Amino acid sequence: MPKPFPVRNGVTSFWRTEPHSLDSHRSSESIPEQSDIVVIGAGYAGASVVHHILEQIPFTSQPPSIVILEARQACSGATGRNGGHMKPDLYNGISGIAAEHGVEAAAEVAAFEARHVHSIKDFVEKEKIACDYTVTKAVDVQLDQGYSDKLKDGYDRLVASGLEPTKQAQYIDGGNAQKFSGVKGAVGCFTYDAGHVWPYKFVLHLLEKAISRGVNLQTHTAVSGVSRSTSSTSSHHWQVNTSRGAIVAKVVVLATNAYTSALAPQYQEKIIPVRGTCSRIIVPPGPMRPRLEKTYTLRRNGWDYDYLIPRADGSIIVGGARPPIINQLESWYNVSDDSVVLQRAAQYFDGYMQRNFVGWEDSHAYTDRVWTGIMGYSSDGFPHIGRVPGHDGQFILAGFTGHGMPQIFLAAEGLAKMIVAGTEFMDTGLPRLFQTTQARLDSSRNQALENVPTLGSLQARP
Ligand SMILES: Cc1cc2nc3c(=O)[nH]c(=O)nc-3n(C[C@H](O)[C@H](O)[C@H](O)COP(=O)(O)OP(=O)(O)OC[C@H]3O[C@@H](n4cnc5c(N)ncnc54)[C@H](O)[C@@H]3O)c2cc1C
Repeated sequence: MPKPFPVRNGVTSFWRTEPHSLDSHRSSESIPEQSDIVVIGAGYAGASVVHHILEQIPFTSQPPSIVILEARQACSGATGRNGGHMKPDLYNGISGIAAEHGVEAAAEVAAFEARHVHSIKDFVEKEKIACDYTVTKAVDVQLDQGYSDKLKDGYDRLVASGLEPTKQAQYIDGGNAQKFSGVKGAVGCFTYDAGHVWPYKFVLHLLEKAISRGVNLQTHTAVSGVSRSTSSTSSHHWQVNTSRGAIVAKVVVLATNAYTSALAPQYQEKIIPVRGTCSRIIVPPGPMRPRLEKTYTLRRNGWDYDYLIPRADGSIIVGGARPPIINQLESWYNVSDDSVVLQRAAQYFDGYMQRNFVGWEDSHAYTDRVWTGIMGYSSDGFPHIGRVPGHDGQFILAGFTGHGMPQIFLAAEGLAKMIVAGTEFMDTGLPRLFQTTQARLDSSRNQALENVPTLGSLQARP
């Protein structure tokens, strides 16, 4: 199996069409020879953990030296290529988690994800971040009666079990679903609070602030390996080898998502690179069509669903497009190349609004841009967060299974507590199921491909 490293020339996403002045930043000409903390990856996870580390250092203390190493430009991985949908899961995957791991564990995940929507809003307002962050309602539209009934059954069970986050989701039944959602053929839908954001702008704000506080960012610096330092006297136990020399560090944070197993082979087949496709649809001025102010998921079954985020500029981000590629496993599963867009996936977005939305038939909406990105699918569906088992001083925040937007920021806060104060995972307040453990690494189960007749359960979950 080739190691999944980021490729050089990823397709340019809509979010990356306005590059920040720090896009290819290097804080120093050469990389430092040593640092207290080295964070690998300058995406949402890497930038968030650095932010929270700096927030948690007491003002009276000398902050640790921190270097961020990024193989390509800042925020050029999944975060710079996603849908920007900050949509917590309140009933869908949560109902399966409750059945397998118990209601309490499922409630932790649902509450944790739900917290992101308003925590990020407060943070964006406090820091005045120009990243188009918007809180709205998600409308989760079901298009298949059997699947809709199954989801409704799971939802009812969670509500009956008293799951507070699930109770916030409202169900609209078949008779009213099409009128409520504006989606043709809707047989039911759920609606609840969700957000959306320009993810690149959010992350670049975090990086800019970190740099202003002394953090050293080195873009275009690929890490080739992490090994134990040969020095027996230094407290810098880890050596991080890069394309531009080596750094020794006390603490190494793997914020490498889909690419983690290239540096930490124990995560091979535990975090699997999966290619996703996303697009931007432009709606030309013209005849009146129903206004879309919420976000939408159009779902046919467990693997076939698209997500839509109407933006204030009038365009619509649409991600998904699995049906035309699902049966060619080699085109998306264990794929770490985001320099290619498959034509049949790109064509899927043509006429999307006209086909699916009532009153949009004459809108002349057209596809402006299609791009790919690489998600890090975890084999059991949960991210890996915490101390890397058996590797004292190494931490991980990765494996977000196409669903990192409502998980990463507060997960990074918990991880920062572990790094700064030595807090144990169980005292961080993070969902217990998110802890990276040896048992999870030892498990041979791959839920990602488990229950998929057409090999198609893998999808971004926004
Ligand atoms: C097409 C698509 C649509 C999506 N839509 C949504 C959505 O709408 N909502 C949602 O919740 N989630 C969505 N996701 C998932 C979401 O984008 C991710 O969960 C999240 O961005 C992960 O952030 P991250 O920082 O962990 O990973 P990344 O953003 O991928 O960051 C990892 C960084 O590490 C760097 N790196 C890796 N290996 C090395 C190395 N060896 N040396 C140096 N640097 C390295 C990479 O270059 C990369 O920049 C989507 C993903 C894709 C691809």
